[in-house]
Amino acid sequence: MVSIFLSEQEQAYAHQAREFFKREARPHVLAMDRDNEYPFELLKKMGRQGYIGVRFPARYGGGGLNMMHEALVNEETAAQSYALACARSVPHHCAFIIANYGSEEQKLKWLPGIFTADVLTAECITEPTGGSDAARMKTKAQRRGDQWVITGEKRFQASGAVADLFVVFAITDPDVHPTKGMSVFAVEKGTPGIVAMEEFDTMGWRGLRIVSELIFDQVAIPAANLIGEPGQGFPILMDMLNSERILVASGLLGTARTCLEIATAYTMEREAFHRPIRNFEGVSFKVAEMATRLEAASLLRTKAARMLDLGQDVTKIAAMAKGFAAENAYWIANEALQVMGGIGYTTKHDIERHFRDIRGGMVAVGTNEIMRLVVQREHYQEFAQAQDSAS
Ligand SMILES: Cc1cc2nc3c(=O)[nH]c(=O)nc-3n(C[C@H](O)[C@H](O)[C@H](O)COP(=O)(O)OP(=O)(O)OC[C@H]3O[C@@H](n4cnc5c(N)ncnc54)[C@H](O)[C@@H]3O)c2cc1C
Repeated sequence: MVSIFLSEQEQAYAHQAREFFKREARPHVLAMDRDNEYPFELLKKMGRQGYIGVRFPARYGGGGLNMMHEALVNEETAAQSYALACARSVPHHCAFIIANYGSEEQKLKWLPGIFTADVLTAECITEPTGGSDAARMKTKAQRRGDQWVITGEKRFQASGAVADLFVVFAITDPDVHPTKGMSVFAVEKGTPGIVAMEEFDTMGWRGLRIVSELIFDQVAIPAANLIGEPGQGFPILMDMLNSERILVASGLLGTARTCLEIATAYTMEREAFHRPIRNFEGVSFKVAEMATRLEAASLLRTKAARMLDLGQDVTKIAAMAKGFAAENAYWIANEALQVMGGIGYTTKHDIERHFRDIRGGMVAVGTNEIMRLVVQREHYQEFAQAQDSAS
């Protein structure tokens, strides 16, 4: 269907990506889900195709496009598998930090390899004692001569068990508020002191090799591996999360769209009481609601991506887009499963896999509750500012 919100070029780009992932992804996504196999080869193929680092400058090996294109690729990847979309987008989040805050030397050293999937990355924020309140992280980094020494424990890092490069957030100045005393570092695999790595067995997002224990025990890295300035970590994290939330929303849209397509086709073919089940309003009205919620979530995401490309503050709209997509994608997957009866609960039509993957979207990159926390904070601030300027 022609969209008035996407240019012809963007629609053609999305169509091309859709065909690529339809053709290439299936064996890999099943191996990810069933055998916990990380999609090393497929990621390399995606890299060659320009589907990793879509929005980053071409001089570092990126696609030279913008957030809207990055979001469309994530949507089309997740139409096959949300887990695969996550493996595709983690490099984006780490590259975002290096590309926007790193030195020229850091960009040249790491970005090209990230975009070809020769350098796999993990973003290290969450710790065993908490993820929502990231400012209270306990991991510390101390400056000793020409090195930084990192000590602490992270958990939940997607691609963490296979990563070549860890982008690690740590407190560097415990005497000031963490929003001013946090910094971010690039830590290469094999650096002595990365002592333990276990993996979680998860409900969805399988094959992503999510670590449950990632211990940094006096890990000494060159001073040059600090990204940005000391104390700049928290604003960098907030900036990165805005982009990440738009991509999560896009991925959830793609997976939810597939659920809707599967359910729509099934309700046209499946018969009960001598007629296709779509003839029952109890079924077709669910499909109507699924389509409506998907459309609304898509509009929010598109607005967020467009605002970001225009350089506007997207803190509120990105949280709205992510939270709304997460809740509604979950609702769509659940209803899709319901209208398919017993077969929806089996592995035959992929719905159960998509349902499990979508559920993770309500927790990762900020829970639904944290999205509301961000939206209400921004809303009240805007309201107060509007009142001030009116008086
Ligand atoms: C599949 C998956 C992939 C992930 N990938 C990564 C990754 O790559 N890197 C990484 O660093 N982390 C990752 N995470 C971690 C994720 O970001 C955290 O799990 C998430 O931010 C929540 O943190 P928590 O699990 O510590 O829950 P907690 O912070 O302990 O929260 C527990 C509950 O309390 C609620 N809560 C907390 N504070 C408030 C509040 N102020 N108001 C209302 N409710 C509140 C939360 O919403 C939640 O329901 C991933 C998680 C999952 C599930």
